[in-house]
Amino acid sequence: MIPFNKPPVVGTEIEYLQQAIASGRLSGDGRFTRLCEQWLEQRFQAERVLLTPSCTDALELSALLLNIQPDDEVIMPSYTFVSTANAFALRGAKIVFVDIRPDTMNIDESKIEQAITAKTKAIIVVHYAGVACEMQRIMSIAEKHQLWVVEDAAQGVMASYQNKPLGTIGHIGCYSFHETKNYTAGGEGGAIVINDAKLVERAEIIREKGTNRKQFFQKQVDKYTWRELGSSFLMSELQAAYLYAQLLSADQINQRRLALWQRYYTALTPLAEQGLVKLPHIPTACQPNGHLFYLKLADKQQRSALIEHLNKKGILAVFHYVPLHSSPAGQQWGTFVGEDCYTTQESEKLLRLPLFFNLTDNEITQVIDAVLDFFMNPNE
Ligand SMILES: *Cc1c(COP(=O)(O)O)cnc(C)c1O
Repeated sequence: MIPFNKPPVVGTEIEYLQQAIASGRLSGDGRFTRLCEQWLEQRFQAERVLLTPSCTDALELSALLLNIQPDDEVIMPSYTFVSTANAFALRGAKIVFVDIRPDTMNIDESKIEQAITAKTKAIIVVHYAGVACEMQRIMSIAEKHQLWVVEDAAQGVMASYQNKPLGTIGHIGCYSFHETKNYTAGGEGGAIVINDAKLVERAEIIREKGTNRKQFFQKQVDKYTWRELGSSFLMSELQAAYLYAQLLSADQINQRRLALWQRYYTALTPLAEQGLVKLPHIPTACQPNGHLFYLKLADKQQRSALIEHLNKKGILAVFHYVPLHSSPAGQQWGTFVGEDCYTTQESEKLLRLPLFFNLTDNEITQVIDAVLDFFMNPNE
């Protein structure tokens, strides 16, 4: 059986876990948390990175940090994970969904401006598959209308746009270290990237349950108090130790994923040339990270047939998001502005193939052969 995903393992995780256990301190903001944060800050030239228990938490912290209030509006694609919307709906905001581009499955930057009203506070972009949104255009729209930009870069760690790391382009970036992502903090994990220096101090208060506990420990104040709405957004040291091992192998993981992605792309290009499938498009401004490989079939029925075909051969392939505006909570908390030209149509054709760090050459060959076989022997 070839699974759709296996959590990445580089082999050195156990050493760091043992060090964390031996240190006698496992709660947040310890040595491994700082090592991971510094690694990310230096590698991505980020103002400040704070580890969080998940990307969901990083998004929720963002909504608190940006003071999102009931009746504010936030713009985002409907083709995304629920956490992108939940984080802002939890603050009472109205979610405004905008259509995506069919070539990258990212928010269509040309349709953002028509969705902006006097209540709009932020644009939340999602870099699907680690391929960047058209950030130059989006940042200039945001500047013109004085809006915040949050990058949901859950899938974008180690990918760039015009050579700038994803997560460092908007005011805030959010990373995921869930086991389905390129790097994991032992199953669950995330980080918030704060690119606006003015937001750093409040972010540190919000993640410490809304207290100035950090300043107290640094002896900047003589007692700590409840300052504002906050929550518990610290990652455990055990998770940070696991993550640190993976970050030290980040280039190795990135190169392997890109090589696997390229193998799929090259092997399936003949199918695309015959018009049988569509393959992902990488705009020239984007330096991707091989987060996921998808192909697009003619329709939903053909996609189900291919899923079944692969299943019979012991291969797990899966589709992805059901557009949020078509879900019950999406209808309650959001509205789709403009026409849904591509969101529903393109999401129904998309199929993801197994792609993970520890996928072997032999396994990817089996997947490719099985996909080719589906098209070459349709009546089998
Ligand atoms: C995975 C993912 C998330 C959630 O990440 P968690 O770390 O599991 O909370 C949010 N947004 C997108 C686009 C994702 O792919």
